[in-house]
Parts: sequence; C-alpha cells; structure tokens
Amino acid sequence: MPEPMPRKPKAPSCEDCYFHKNLLCALELGEPCATFRPNRPEGLVPPRQPVLLMRAPRWASTGRAVSA
Ligand code: SF4
Repeated sequence: MPEPMPRKPKAPSCEDCYFHKNLLCALELGEPCATFRPNRPEGLVPPRQPVLLMRAPRWASTGRAVSA
C-alpha cells in the first residue's frame, strides 16, 4: 500500500533554495526570504503567475448603442 501524501508541505528553507545551492545568495538572514526558489533538477523555474483573463471590449458591452 502506498504511503499517504503529507497534508502540509515542508516549510521552505535556505538549504533547499536554488540560490543557496549555487552559491548565488549573499543574504545572511537566517530564514528564507521572498526570493526563495526551490532547487530543482531542471534549474531555476519562475513562480507561477495568475492566468490573465481578457475582458470584453467596452464597445461590446450591452446597454448603450453607439451612434456615429
Ligand atoms: S535567496 Fe533567500 S531563501 Fe534563498 S538562500 Fe538566500 S536568503 Fe535563503
């Protein structure tokens, strides 16, 4: 039987940070900062961004007719 996945992910630490592993960090904070990026085999991966939702153009909204 496979082991269940842990519910809470492990808290990030500087030892797991890409910048620390590659000697690119000059900070001596003692705790991870907002720049933390996980050290992955594929290298530096940018953080996920929210999906950009496009609005309908103003002229397409209902309620007002456009006259020339
Ligand atoms: S960049 Fe931030 S999280 Fe990464 S090692 Fe440096 S202080 Fe820690």
